[in-house]
Amino acid sequence: MKCKRRIGVHTSIAGGISLSLQRAHELGCKTIQIFSHNPRTWNLKQIEPVEVVRFKEWRSKFDISPVFIHASYLINIASGNQELRDKSITLLSLELDIADQIGAEYVILHPGSSSGEDKDISLKRAIASLTEVSKIKRWKTKILIENTSGKSGDISSSFNDISKIIASLPEYLIGGICLDTCHAFTAGYDISTEAAIKKTVYELKKYTGLNMIKLIHLNDSKGNAGSGLDRHEHIGLGKIGIKGLETFINHPSFRYIPIILETPKKKPGDDPENIAKVLNMINRQQ
Ligand SMILES: [Zn+2]
Ligand SMILES: [Zn+2]
Repeated sequence: MKCKRRIGVHTSIAGGISLSLQRAHELGCKTIQIFSHNPRTWNLKQIEPVEVVRFKEWRSKFDISPVFIHASYLINIASGNQELRDKSITLLSLELDIADQIGAEYVILHPGSSSGEDKDISLKRAIASLTEVSKIKRWKTKILIENTSGKSGDISSSFNDISKIIASLPEYLIGGICLDTCHAFTAGYDISTEAAIKKTVYELKKYTGLNMIKLIHLNDSKGNAGSGLDRHEHIGLGKIGIKGLETFINHPSFRYIPIILETPKKKPGDDPENIAKVLNMINRQQ
């Protein structure tokens, strides 16, 4: 991949966590996002020491950096159910342990959902949970808060709410924001035209500051702007479209931010095709 920008895709860890690096390398990726374990189970298996060594070795051999771990989908630190909240705090801290072990820079977290309760109460509860996590220990790995799609119950789809979470927590725990283009779009931050992008960037600047964005999840959207629908689409085939995505990732403030694709993987050619489109989007603007 002839491109200075760090581009990667969410990559499978099937067969062992280090194999993800080989898969990423074969696709020409220079950054990676993985799950630390099956994201639909609470059981987190420890990683064999030999795997940890191999992961670090291959990572430097293939020049893959940063490494992002996407936290389990089961985690809901905003939950009003005490048992679920406790389990979520424990699992999140275990994810951070694994991230530290393999030297991942960031763990990406959706701050959870309110499941019918008042949003502000849930937001405060998410902050309290993260405060608890911050007291367990100090990890080298930091958490990135991901903006969510705006579906009912979401507590982190508005930049203002994300800024409240970040402002309430220590810097040694929270490293910044992972901005998902599909989620932003369906949460009402249009990025399909230059004028809309200007407005969205202004909102980001106003609430979170642009320097807080450490990763772009580059996904097109099956749903319309403001629809709240969390359905990712192949680059250029969704409602945002090539022009909007191209303008967005090449915005002067985002030029050097790593990109991870979470586009559908239905057939083997899907990842290479989406990566090729992103490379064209970047090269056209240089
Ligand atoms: Zn996510
Ligand atoms: Zn995402």
